[in-house]
Amino acid sequence: MHIHRTYRAKILNHSQVERMLDLHGWSASKLWNVANYHSRQVWDETGEIPDDSDLKRELKGHDNYKGLHSQSSQRVLEVLAEAFNSWYGKRKNDSRANPPGYRKKNYYDDNGNRVHEEHPRSTVTWKQKGICHDSKHNHVRLSKGANHKDHPRDWDYILVEYETRPEVTVENLQQVRAVYDKSKGRWELHLVCKHEVETPDAPGTETAGVDLGICNFAAVAYSTEEADLYPGNRLKQDGYYFPKEIAKCDDSGGKEATRLHAKWSERRTHFFHSLAKHIVERCIEQGVGRINIGKLNGVREDENGESKNWGKHGNLDLHGWAFDRFTKILTYKANVEGIEVVEVSERDTSKTCCVCGRADKGQRVERGLYVCEECDAAFNADVNGAENIRLDFNQSNSESAPDLGGDRSTGWLAQPGVYLHDLSHGFSPREQVVNCKP
Ligand SMILES: [Zn+2]
Repeated sequence: MHIHRTYRAKILNHSQVERMLDLHGWSASKLWNVANYHSRQVWDETGEIPDDSDLKRELKGHDNYKGLHSQSSQRVLEVLAEAFNSWYGKRKNDSRANPPGYRKKNYYDDNGNRVHEEHPRSTVTWKQKGICHDSKHNHVRLSKGANHKDHPRDWDYILVEYETRPEVTVENLQQVRAVYDKSKGRWELHLVCKHEVETPDAPGTETAGVDLGICNFAAVAYSTEEADLYPGNRLKQDGYYFPKEIAKCDDSGGKEATRLHAKWSERRTHFFHSLAKHIVERCIEQGVGRINIGKLNGVREDENGESKNWGKHGNLDLHGWAFDRFTKILTYKANVEGIEVVEVSERDTSKTCCVCGRADKGQRVERGLYVCEECDAAFNADVNGAENIRLDFNQSNSESAPDLGGDRSTGWLAQPGVYLHDLSHGFSPREQVVNCKP
C-alpha cells in the first residue's frame, strides 16, 4: 500500500534562486488569469464551464503556458477548473457565490497596509517529469518554463538546495511545490513523497454501509444491527453564515473576505476529517473489513423524482463535490486500517425497504421516516438507505426481492445513534434521534 506524505523544506540557497522562483510564481498567476478570463467568456457564451482538458487544449499554444514546465502549467489549469466546478455547484444554492478571482489583487502586509502587486507569487507545482532529485545532497532540480531560458546556454532548471527537519528522509519524490510565504518574504518547498507501507490486517470481515445525504451528512449501517447518524447541520449553518459575512465585505478579494473563505474551507475540511476518523473507529469496533459507500452518478434525482442533469458537470454540484471529497478522505483513513472502501450503486436504495425488499408506490418518506406498508413499520429513511447500500442489493439481487430472513429485528432501523460534531471534541453521541424537517 502507498501513502503520500508532504514535508516542508527550507531553501538554503534562497538568494540564488529567489529571482527565478519569483518569475515562475508570476507566470503561474498570469496563466491563471488568462485561463480564468477564457473560462468566464465560455461561461457567458455557452453556460458551460470548460473542464481542465478543454483548458489545456485551448491554452497549450499560449505564451503564458510556456512560462512554466508543461506539467506545472497543467496543474495551474487543473486547480482553476476545480475551483470553477466548485463555484458552479455553490451558485445553485447561493446566488452570491463568487467565481474564482483573478490573481492580480492587492494584498495586505502584516501592518494592514495595502500593497499593490500586479502579479502575486502563485504556488508552482512540479510533477515527476519536471523534477530531478539528488537525495544524497538534498538538492532538487526543477525544470524552468521555456520563457525563462533567456540564453541557449542557460541552465534548463533551477537548482534548489533544501533542508528538512533532521528526522525526515526525502525519498520517492512525487511532487514539489514552491510556496511563497508572504510573512517571511521567502519561498519554501513542499516535498510530496510516496512511502510504501505494509497493508495492515482488516479489523474483521463484516461490511458496513454508508449513505451520504444533505440533512444527515452520513448514515452508517452495521451488520450488528446498529446504525449511526451524523447530522450535517454544522456544514449547513456554515453554508448560511459564511456567504452572508463574505457579502458584507467591501472588497470581495480583500483581506477579510479571503480570511473568511479560508476559515470556511478549514472548518469544512475539519468536519470531513473528524467524521471519517469517527466512522473508521466505529468500523474497527464492529470488526468491519469493507465499507460500501453509495456511488454518485452524473444524474441525480431531486425530491420530486425528477432527474437533474447538469451536463458533464452534473456530479460536481455542491453536495456531489463535498461527497467526492469526503469519500476520498474516508477511503484514505480506512485503507490505513486495512479496511477497503467500495463504491456501490445507490440506485433505488432510498426507495426500497431494506427489510422486505419492496420498492413500490406504497412506501413513502416523511420527515425523515421511511414508512413501509408491507412491513407496517417506520424506519429512519437514511438508515434504510445505508442498510440497502450495505447489502448492495443492486449487485446481489437484480431479479427477486432479497431474502433477508423474516425474523430480523427492525428496532435498530428506527433508533440509530446520533453523533453531533463539536469543533474542539469532534463527534460525540447524542441520545435522541434527529429527523430532518423539510
Ligand atoms: Zn418493508
